[in-house]
Amino acid sequence: MSFASFGLNPALLQAIESKGYSQPTPIQSEAIPAILNRQDVMAGAQTGTGKTAAFALPILHLLEASEEVNARVQALVLTPTRELAQQVGKSFQQYGAHTSLRTVVAYGGVSINNQLSVVKQGVDILVATPGRLIDLLGRQAIDLSCLSFFVLDEADRMLDMGFIDDIKRILRSVPETRQTLLFSATFDDAIFKLSQKLLHDPALIEV
Ligand code: AMP
Repeated sequence: MSFASFGLNPALLQAIESKGYSQPTPIQSEAIPAILNRQDVMAGAQTGTGKTAAFALPILHLLEASEEVNARVQALVLTPTRELAQQVGKSFQQYGAHTSLRTVVAYGGVSINNQLSVVKQGVDILVATPGRLIDLLGRQAIDLSCLSFFVLDEADRMLDMGFIDDIKRILRSVPETRQTLLFSATFDDAIFKLSQKLLHDPALIEV
């Protein structure tokens, strides 16, 4: 299987080539078609499996193909840590380098002022840690009412770190109609409970 066989936008194929990826990893082979097919996804995947591209590429493809002119955030990726937010944000920026889509990263532990002025200039894809996102929502700096994609990356770590109430709060600002993608290295009762709340008839992917 090749990346071209997914029907991805040439701008994305060019970025994939620049990264030197010759073929999709197993999680990419399963998740990319499901996401392009507009399904919710629940995926078990460790770091190092290529899980970031598994959700970033189809999201970039679908947003780039969208005719909608949208001044608001269209995709939200929640991560448990600042380091992961930075890494995921960088991946979106690299894979989307030849598109017009703008990715912004927001995390706590640093002054919010710079992040406030960046989001004011317009965001298509927001990668954020839960606490800082809630802060931005409270300041009405971010509007999630037009969100098409809601991604939870490393959902098990997010629950371990006690972010469940933050996730529930963020959910109240997110439309019911969005597509939801949940990635987790492990699955226990807490993750299943969360997935039942978040996901509609998901494609189950285990690699
Ligand atoms: P991740 O699991 O998303 O943290 O990705 C792990 C590493 O695999 C990153 O350095 C990616 O750049 C790399 N990677 C992702 N997809 C592929 C691919 N299809 N072929 C080769 N390397 C990849």
